[in-house]
Amino acid sequence: MGNCYGSNYKSACGCATTFWKTVIILPVIPIDELIRSRRKTIALIIQPDGRLIVRAPLRASQAEIQRVLERHRSWILKKQAQVRSQQAACPVHTYRPGDRFLYLGKVCQLEIRDAKRPLLALDGETFYLARSAQQSAAAVFRAWYRAQAARFIPDRVAALAKMNGFHPRGVRITSARTRWGSCSQAGNLSFTWRLMIAPPEVIDYVILHELTHLEIKNHTPAFWERLKSLVPEYKERVRWLKAHAQWGTGL
Ligand SMILES: [Zn+2]
Repeated sequence: MGNCYGSNYKSACGCATTFWKTVIILPVIPIDELIRSRRKTIALIIQPDGRLIVRAPLRASQAEIQRVLERHRSWILKKQAQVRSQQAACPVHTYRPGDRFLYLGKVCQLEIRDAKRPLLALDGETFYLARSAQQSAAAVFRAWYRAQAARFIPDRVAALAKMNGFHPRGVRITSARTRWGSCSQAGNLSFTWRLMIAPPEVIDYVILHELTHLEIKNHTPAFWERLKSLVPEYKERVRWLKAHAQWGTGL
């Protein structure tokens, strides 16, 4: 259920201002859906995706509805901004134009194009999905992220290992949802392709975290000391991963 206000609610703020010298004309607030029924009051409902639904009595005039919207203008805009920013933190993918994905820490918007190949391409901060692939978009996206991870992560592990004197036995790319990386007893490192949502410095942190486990298995104070010497701002990296995890699991 969305947020509801009856028409008899008195808004505390004066929204539109008409003054003898200054006339401020504000744009009309768009109604996404108008539902008329045998009700007595006008109700404004903001959906979780920010859409505005107006429920009105059968005989309410357009002018009456507009007056209610005007009276609650600031409330409507504030609520819409609020739910949209919550959505920004936790996207549910629609695979429609404007859908957003995180890749290497950047928000990239989706566009659909008619070309058949490639099924999915990234150009700057725009993903182009072939219209023919829209039905299987989720699988296409996963395959794309996995391919990027396979190309990027093993090379980066090798470089960071060499730079810091670590000797991992091997690197595997997984689809794990609950852990970004892991280190086996035998010294094999695993990383989920979902890590590709993160900025390069955050990916480096996860790699160095697992490389450090080659020396120190558990999260002891000594482990964190060693990791801190490699990534002084590691706490910031951990915060980023926590704040954005849903972008990865939502893929
Ligand atoms: Zn660990």
